[in-house]
Amino acid sequence: MLKVTKFGGSSMADAGQYRKVRDIVLADPDRRVVIVSAAGKRFSADHKLTDLLYLCHAHVQYGVDSTPVFEMITSRYLEIRDELGLDLDLESEFAQLKEKLDAKSVSQDELVSRGEYFSAKLMAAFLGFKFVDSADWVKFAMDGTVDKEASYPALQELVGEGEYAVIPGFYGVMPNGAVRTFSRGGSDISGALAAAALNADVYENWTDVSGILMADPRIVENPQPIPEITYDELRELSYAGAQVLHELTIFPVREKNIPVNIRNTNDPDHPGTIIQEDYKNESDPDRVVTGITGKKDFSIITMFKRGMTSQVGVLRKVLSILERHGISVDFVPNGIDNVSLVIPTATLAPHLYNVMAEIQREVKPDNLTVLDEIAVVAAVGHRMAFRPGVSGKIFAALGEKGINIRMINQGPDELNIIFGVDNKDFAEAIRVLYNSFVK
Ligand code: ADP
Ligand code: ASP
Ligand code: MG
Repeated sequence: MLKVTKFGGSSMADAGQYRKVRDIVLADPDRRVVIVSAAGKRFSADHKLTDLLYLCHAHVQYGVDSTPVFEMITSRYLEIRDELGLDLDLESEFAQLKEKLDAKSVSQDELVSRGEYFSAKLMAAFLGFKFVDSADWVKFAMDGTVDKEASYPALQELVGEGEYAVIPGFYGVMPNGAVRTFSRGGSDISGALAAAALNADVYENWTDVSGILMADPRIVENPQPIPEITYDELRELSYAGAQVLHELTIFPVREKNIPVNIRNTNDPDHPGTIIQEDYKNESDPDRVVTGITGKKDFSIITMFKRGMTSQVGVLRKVLSILERHGISVDFVPNGIDNVSLVIPTATLAPHLYNVMAEIQREVKPDNLTVLDEIAVVAAVGHRMAFRPGVSGKIFAALGEKGINIRMINQGPDELNIIFGVDNKDFAEAIRVLYNSFVK
């Protein structure tokens, strides 16, 4: 039996949290492989180590003295080391890094990856486990995807049968050896890759909430936990915005049919959430919605062209304009003779004027508009499929609160209903949905 365990930033924030992690890991001899994040926030106004590292790089880039930020970073790690009484020479590694930084010879990715690197060094010393550097096994291909054929055997070599190891999350190396990080929150992916590489029986992801909740606890007060969820539902939830797990986490584990168990470092007896292919012990088979989530800051381009529905190739022309600009479209809801393209504003904004001009020129629509400040809200649930009245219930509840719906989209597999509201109505829309389906 092998359990691969990943501990997120809040579980690594200070010496007290390290002690909780140690108790959890040592309580079960199957927990042999530990993936760690950089130190997170200790209290709400605190800084994440990773954010400080990005800030430090910006200082260097703009020629501002980085020493004060660098010292904030190193002192967090020295404090943990000293409080835990560990005999580990961090000072000489810090000095080498500072030298490289001053010479401007460290890339942003390499610098920010040091957050997880030092976390792992400390945790390995604290647990008495072997430190395995992710630069030695997570291998990116030139296109930025992970080369699993190269990475998995490399980790199998480094962590033998029955061995105990601590591995930093968040980074790997390019074919030329340069350090490359995943996108933010990417230690979840490192853990999933390690679980898949080592054919783990379970991937435990330890964080600061007791599993995936039916809604973001920062928006809904005390949302109910989700004891069980399928990979598909989780994919929908995390794509649409639920930030508990990085949206790419499930791919490596799903390929090997490894269940993911989300657990709470601050409440280790809570069973958390199990994510797997199918439901095993569905706790509430009558519940239609599994979770509610969403994201702000989308733009909607809407195009109306008389007779469009019967013309061939209109949609292709529009999509190829976006493709030329390297923009991927999140949703394409359509009606008779009109189509909308829903795109994150940050992606669209730099290309907006060119995209609009090209649509005008190449497609000649009768009307073309763009709407900003849109939030996308999604209700996800495998039992929604073909269930009549679900969308009606959603829209009635929103209408009652005077929330305007700007867009509606339902996936063909009917796992979700997605709709757009104004950014300002985002939190309220989530609360209204939660209350109408859960209470
Ligand atoms: P870690 O540092 O352990 O990786 P994250 O901060 O990435 O943790 O993710 C956990 C946080 O996700 C929680 O503290 C919670 O505020 C937030 N969150 C957002 N949506 C949800 C949800 N539906 N269920 C649980 N947590 C959620
Ligand atoms: N430390 C990285 C971040 O803050 C990766 C992670 O925590 O998963 O994004
Ligand atoms: Mg995270």
